[in-house]
Amino acid sequence: MASLQPVRGTRDLMADDVRRHRAVIEQARSVSALYGFDEIMTPIFEFTEVFSRTIGETSDIVSKEMYAFERSGDRLCLRPEGTAGVCRAFLSNGLVQQVPFRAFYAGPMFRYERPQKGRQRQFHQLGVELLGVDSPRADVEVLSLAAHILDLYGLKDRVRLEINTLGDTESRMAYRDALRSWLSRYRDDLSEESKIRLEKNPLRILDSKDEKDRALIADAPGMADYLNAASQHFFDAVQDGLSRHGIAFSVNQKLVRGLDYYCHTAFEFVTDDLGAQGTVLAGGRYDGLIETMGGPHVPGIGWAAGVERLAMMMADVPPRLRPLAVIPASPALEVDADQLVSRLRHAGFAVDMAFSGAMKKRMKRANAVHACAALLLGEDEQAQGGVTVRDLDTGGQELVPLASLEEALARFRSCHG
Ligand code: ATP
Ligand code: MG
Repeated sequence: MASLQPVRGTRDLMADDVRRHRAVIEQARSVSALYGFDEIMTPIFEFTEVFSRTIGETSDIVSKEMYAFERSGDRLCLRPEGTAGVCRAFLSNGLVQQVPFRAFYAGPMFRYERPQKGRQRQFHQLGVELLGVDSPRADVEVLSLAAHILDLYGLKDRVRLEINTLGDTESRMAYRDALRSWLSRYRDDLSEESKIRLEKNPLRILDSKDEKDRALIADAPGMADYLNAASQHFFDAVQDGLSRHGIAFSVNQKLVRGLDYYCHTAFEFVTDDLGAQGTVLAGGRYDGLIETMGGPHVPGIGWAAGVERLAMMMADVPPRLRPLAVIPASPALEVDADQLVSRLRHAGFAVDMAFSGAMKKRMKRANAVHACAALLLGEDEQAQGGVTVRDLDTGGQELVPLASLEEALARFRSCHG
């Protein structure tokens, strides 16, 4: 055993963590269903190519963050993000004719990066993809959905939406050339990584995390001056749509997404509450992705949110179901107690059961597990065909005939706290 600690960059989600984590996912899932996004689950590993081709070799993910391995000659990798897998599944399942295709997903992702607050090597994302719609109304729809979900989390005032456009291919190429020639003048000041990006994919430099790069970028030209009419029109339509939906946003001309396949709309919901890792939800349009995979031209747009980052922003742990505690007065009554426990669980009650110990110790445990009531089973009770039900919040108790026990316990059925 190398160590009793979890692997660096991974963590255990204990009971309260899981409750919070699940609440984040469940709320997103149910709002997404209102917009017609059904959940799909793709494997957590794929052929490495699914990611390397689509995400791009100069991306952080492909250049240094992949958990890749080989098995029986297949080059495989743990998924670093969800979009490529969803698009692969869309093609594998022959859904190209069935557009618009909407999918919701949630699950673990894996990236080999430096662990810090809000940044892990195994983390979780939830996200949506909308395939087959080239209208800016699709961009507005997925953004509305994101805003709706964040509202329901109660985060409306703690996040803000930043958007940008990367334009169509023509506009992006024009901007790329302009950016490259501007940045070339400062080549010596760029980080080593960005020097490489300068040749291969200068837009990626805008996404650099290096301090000096960031300072330089602040003065770099923005995308706006390089948009052709069609791209400008598209971006205007997205902004008009957001305004019509009452969704506040600001344009950040330096916002590009870390992945190669984006065009037109790029966006992030950011917060000041999480320190350096302030992006909680991010996405954009990726009209070329499915073709890159070898499929037909199918436009797409989607976003992914970091579940851990959202969970950190949710102060309250969703309450857990409080159990009933069944307590036999003596070892001789253990078997009857077991039967009672089983009967109540099958009737849908949560029931805690200590396997041994004197009554007093079991009462203590009932309080420790925050039981809502204790069911005391003694010789007297048994003689009368009943059980004593003690409400652990009020201290009040009564003898309840076994025949009508479920009715008498109705008020404890979905007791949370
Ligand atoms: P960053 O610039 O922070 O590295 P990214 O561009 O790599 O982000 P995306 O690929 O857009 O992130 O992922 C979408 C969301 O998933 C992020 O906004 C964040 O909330 C979450 N996320 C990404 N990487 C991690 C990680 N290593 N640990 C925890 N959450 C993450
Ligand atoms: Mg990253």
